[in-house]
Amino acid sequence: MSQATTLHAEVTQWLSEHWDPNMDLLTWRSLVADSGWGAPSWPSDYYGKDMSPLDAGVVEQAFADHGAVGAAQSGVRMLAAVTLLAHGSHEQKQKYLRGILTGEDQWCQLFSEPGSGSDLAGATTRADLRGDEWIINGQKVWNTSAHHAQYGLLLARTDWDAPKHQGLSYFVIDMEQPGVEVRQLAQMNGHASFNEVFMTDAVVNRDDLVGEAGGGWKCAMTTLANERRSFDRARDVGARKGRQGKIFADLEEEFAIANEPYTWYPQRAGRVDLILQRAMETGAINDPAQRQDIARLHIMAESAKWTGERAKAAAKAGKPQGPEGSLGKLAASNVARLAARVHTAICGNDALLTGPNSPMGGVIAEILVSTPAISIAGGTDEIQKNIIAERVMGLPKEPRVDDGPFRDVRRNTSGTTTKS
Ligand SMILES: Cc1cc2nc3c(=O)[nH]c(=O)nc-3n(C[C@H](O)[C@H](O)[C@H](O)COP(=O)(O)OP(=O)(O)OC[C@H]3O[C@@H](n4cnc5c(N)ncnc54)[C@H](O)[C@@H]3O)c2cc1C
Repeated sequence: MSQATTLHAEVTQWLSEHWDPNMDLLTWRSLVADSGWGAPSWPSDYYGKDMSPLDAGVVEQAFADHGAVGAAQSGVRMLAAVTLLAHGSHEQKQKYLRGILTGEDQWCQLFSEPGSGSDLAGATTRADLRGDEWIINGQKVWNTSAHHAQYGLLLARTDWDAPKHQGLSYFVIDMEQPGVEVRQLAQMNGHASFNEVFMTDAVVNRDDLVGEAGGGWKCAMTTLANERRSFDRARDVGARKGRQGKIFADLEEEFAIANEPYTWYPQRAGRVDLILQRAMETGAINDPAQRQDIARLHIMAESAKWTGERAKAAAKAGKPQGPEGSLGKLAASNVARLAARVHTAICGNDALLTGPNSPMGGVIAEILVSTPAISIAGGTDEIQKNIIAERVMGLPKEPRVDDGPFRDVRRNTSGTTTKS
């Protein structure tokens, strides 16, 4: 028997002893988290089993084969987990990782600001140490799920005299406190996944500084590298529709509330899966020009999938993030853009319609107005091109005008609420 088969059998045995779809979701996920099977590649000190990513894949497969629900995976929580595992203290790992796996805690990423998105290191939200507390003042924006989050991953400036990248620190902030005000933003696709977050004398306990003061950039890079690597991976949503039992009813509820900000994510990726069906239904498949575009789209989408597979294989082999993160993200943008164009060509003017009589009940229109997001989230296309040019191809770096103490660096202050 191969090692993978033995492992699969061991997990299946555990599942046949413990899995009960009539349990409530939290009780089940607590059992999964405490058993180590929820995150087997994590250290055994922190809810894992020290397994290789390859073996963790076997465990995941055994859960799927058994029809059992695994640990909570969706949203920003896994980015929080990888960052805490890499840079967090023993106490932080003990305090936060379990609630991530059980799904009790939701997380959000508080990086972007009105004056610093692509130029993330230009953040001006400030954190000042007073006694045992960091006092936070500033504004963040485009923060997905902040309106549901208990905790935020916060990048803030702690040293205004250090060079730009060295004056930043990384914190876990409790979102449910009087100093944090979250305001939802309306999007052109009708959803409201993002927020503006205003922090006015908000408090972070000294123990919730992740890594060292001034070491925030390194932590933020860990978060972002994993965000790019997992870009638009299928989320654990709706896949278990129609299954019987309390756990699945709880999952539906979780989906309706916690995963609500992500319901349009398949549309922002372009819904390539719908193209052939739509082309056949409408007869567009018989138009040679449209057939060419459809073929081009499929070639692009398939090759992007291979880049994704390379990224997954590298992750499974425990290799650090390579160029495939940025390459895959850029490919996803190109695929989504072309898919939106092909969907429009197939539908004609009707592509703009929403409501019950519109193409696919408004899904096509949602694709059109959602795909621009994929070229922006997690680093814009231009930023990915810069990364590929400089780090992969070894081309000369962009000229820098932001050396020296951050206090003296020229920066975009429009819309920012804090000054050095
Ligand atoms: C779906 C979605 C989810 C998001 N979720 C979050 C979240 O949860 N948390 C969070 O903190 N942020 C989030 N963001 C914000 C996102 O990270 C920023 O929008 C992004 O980094 C771009 O920053 P910006 O909007 O300030 O644009 P800017 O940085 O102002 O860029 C404007 C334009 O200038 C170009 N540009 C900028 N710099 C350069 C350069 N050096 N070279 C060439 N071109 C350049 C950009 O490519 C872009 O076209 C999200 C955004 C989206 C769309």
